[in-house]
Amino acid sequence: MSAEGPPLGARAPSGLSPAGPGLRIQGRTGQRDDASGIGLSSDTHAVGSVGAIPAGMVIVGAGLAGLTVAEALRAEGFEGAVTLLGDEAHGPYHRPPLSKGFLLGDTQQQQLHMRAPELLAKKAITLQVGAAVTSIDRAAKRVTLADGTTLAYDGLALCTGSRLRALPLPGADASGVVGLRTLDHAQSIAAALETAQHVVVIGGGFIGLEVAAAARKKGKNVTVLEAADRLMARVVAPAVSQFYLELHREHGVDVVLGAMVSELVVQDGHIQAVKTRDGREFPADLLVVGIGILPNAEIAQDAGIECQAGIVVDACSRSSDPFVVAAGDCTARRMLDGSWRRLESVQNAVEQAKSAASALLGRDRPFTAEPWFWSDQYDVKLQIVGLTAGFDRVVTRGQPADKKFSAFYYRGEKLIAVDSLNQPAEHMLARKLLAQGVSPTPEQASDVGLALNTLLA
Ligand SMILES: Cc1cc2nc3c(=O)[nH]c(=O)nc-3n(C[C@H](O)[C@H](O)[C@H](O)COP(=O)(O)OP(=O)(O)OC[C@H]3O[C@@H](n4cnc5c(N)ncnc54)[C@H](O)[C@@H]3O)c2cc1C
Repeated sequence: MSAEGPPLGARAPSGLSPAGPGLRIQGRTGQRDDASGIGLSSDTHAVGSVGAIPAGMVIVGAGLAGLTVAEALRAEGFEGAVTLLGDEAHGPYHRPPLSKGFLLGDTQQQQLHMRAPELLAKKAITLQVGAAVTSIDRAAKRVTLADGTTLAYDGLALCTGSRLRALPLPGADASGVVGLRTLDHAQSIAAALETAQHVVVIGGGFIGLEVAAAARKKGKNVTVLEAADRLMARVVAPAVSQFYLELHREHGVDVVLGAMVSELVVQDGHIQAVKTRDGREFPADLLVVGIGILPNAEIAQDAGIECQAGIVVDACSRSSDPFVVAAGDCTARRMLDGSWRRLESVQNAVEQAKSAASALLGRDRPFTAEPWFWSDQYDVKLQIVGLTAGFDRVVTRGQPADKKFSAFYYRGEKLIAVDSLNQPAEHMLARKLLAQGVSPTPEQASDVGLALNTLLA
């Protein structure tokens, strides 16, 4: 994680403050340079964004990353205008419970909302919902919204998240076929679960499996169709995939591996069944498609900002435009070896957003922590720290049969990631091991008699 390339965005062009975007601030009392990028007083920003008067910071996307940028700007002392534009009908809300407690009825809609409107108002953050940004004019430093209005910016944060990858089959738009990304999606799945008998999930990744677990808990007949030969294959080791296969089968889910979906059977506009290439047919009155996401990078790409499987950012969340930062699911981070890293997680959205806010204010706050993620399925909490890509050895600590164990991933001698199942203390310990660059030997890792914290500094 610490192996990052040089910052991508050229610093502010000469003639502007070297500290970053939006820093040549012209207030009512005239023009001044402010190397800190803060100190734009509220009496100045209240004038608005006309002509030479500062426009403030505009954030596109009112999700977790967008809200975090807005609040971090305030926390860092920025006093200018902060405008948060979101194209959904709702203000910022938590997505992780959508595939977990919300479907089970354990988490209510009001618990999903991140901030009460009064709190945003108190922080002088202007939230506009139903406000889709359609283009960016980088030369004029202005965004255009779907209704044709424009908004000037001194600094722009792109936090546009991602959207569902569509199933490329006729019938994918039939009623009863849904994906899960938004609160609206979750509400329609929750409503469908009231009456559905046969739920088919396409995709044995985290979200598909969490939905399968919730549907099963609600007593539905559940089938998971996964094209690969094991579950969550992109992220976890075969031993962990096997554990989840057995867990879901134990709970009565029909998990079909190597399942190539070939046809959706639709009658009177509603899904009836899903066929696979080997001729099998699975009845479905609710079909949940969980085959991944695509970053919302088009407005950046159209504006000529560098994009590669997402908006390219450096460790400080700067894009290739010195006045534009990006954070969260919409980004791809350039690594030192030339590869791209796209992360879709709460931690990534929050940490990149904090870096992005600092970058807007001309400060470096590189995000270098090890990535972490979690998933809840039935009574098993999986917590992952590090990235498993390129592992060549995995050892387990504890017994999968006890539903409490960890998997330690190695590349050569180096520990690169740890999955902890129902082991929250061990997960926290694994975070420390990775943060300190401590690699227990595989023998030490698998020895439950050895307290791993004795290896820490
Ligand atoms: C069901 C589900 C379960 C998850 N579970 C976990 C979990 O257990 N652990 C974990 O770490 N992560 C989980 N995640 C992932 C995590 O929620 C995301 O990584 C995180 O929400 C990313 O935040 P974001 O702000 O980048 O994007 P988003 O939350 O997607 O927010 C982006 C917002 O920008 C809006 N937008 C896009 N384009 C425009 C535009 N042009 N104009 C205006 N607005 C725009 C979008 O509509 C959206 O509201 C889960 C995600 C989902 C969907």
